[in-house]
Amino acid sequence: MTQPIYLVGARGCGKTTVGVALAQALGCNFVDTDHYLLTSTKMSVADIVAQEGWEGFRRRESAALQSVTAPGTVIATGGGMVLAQSNRQFMREQGVVIYLRAPAQILASRLAAFPEEGQRPTLTGRSITDEIVEVLAAREALYNQVAHHVVDAARPPAEIVEAVLAALHTARA
Ligand code: ADP
Ligand code: MG
Repeated sequence: MTQPIYLVGARGCGKTTVGVALAQALGCNFVDTDHYLLTSTKMSVADIVAQEGWEGFRRRESAALQSVTAPGTVIATGGGMVLAQSNRQFMREQGVVIYLRAPAQILASRLAAFPEEGQRPTLTGRSITDEIVEVLAAREALYNQVAHHVVDAARPPAEIVEAVLAALHTARA
């Protein structure tokens, strides 16, 4: 598999967890656009948003997507990467896009178990759980639209990796 593989989905769906394991299974590199953004700017998401607004964050996120895109790479994307049509088009053209799909209740329980994952400022100013329900409702169509394959992510990571590998195999058959 030389084409980049993009993992998309809401915060907590397992993009980082599954991405690391998938890259290992494929002998690929792994890169996380959020992590790339933080190390390349030396700023936290909260800092970027405070200084440049969400618009500035989204601009930097798009640049990060292009910077990390390379053959033989599994790329975990930020939850909002799909918002820009240009990002969706770029990912579909450059590689294989996998949507890790999980219900809001599961996402909320995962993030509640590890509160440090929820440090990004909420978009609505309401509770994380309420926000997840709302954000997922708004983005679900975009995740489905951009994905070449939709994979059920409400199961253990090893099973998700197997399902992604099967989907990739189908794509090449
Ligand atoms: P994302 O990168 O999509 O935001 P993460 O991989 O960081 O998601 O996972 C968010 C949290 O949920 C982490 O604490 C992680 O350990 C946990 N997690 C991820 N995938 C699963 C899974 N398939 N089943 C149970 N917990 C998971
Ligand atoms: Mg992640």
